[in-house]
Amino acid sequence: MDQKAIRKKLLEELENLAGRSDRIEAHWRDEAPPADWSELAIHQENDEVIESLDERTQEQMVSIRQALRRMDAEEWDTCSDCGEEIQAARLEALPTTTLCVRCAEVRETLNKS
Ligand SMILES: [Zn+2]
Repeated sequence: MDQKAIRKKLLEELENLAGRSDRIEAHWRDEAPPADWSELAIHQENDEVIESLDERTQEQMVSIRQALRRMDAEEWDTCSDCGEEIQAARLEALPTTTLCVRCAEVRETLNKS
């Protein structure tokens, strides 16, 4: 898959996420307060699920936008840590990554310790 095809995929993904984000926003806006206490507990649990979905959606949108910007700047396949080229197979599997496989492993090791 070439960069153009991946870019198209990212743009589609971004559109999906934006749609989801709109639906989440509509949920917050239109939601009526629950009628009684037993409903309130379920209601709060749902809100937590939706909140974490919302967070994940926003994060994904940020990383896709970042990947698109990196494509525009022709930095997409350059590792942001060491400046080496990121492997094509890695970019195909993880188009929003900013690190080559070596630097990603280094970070992972650092996070674990
Ligand atoms: Zn690197």
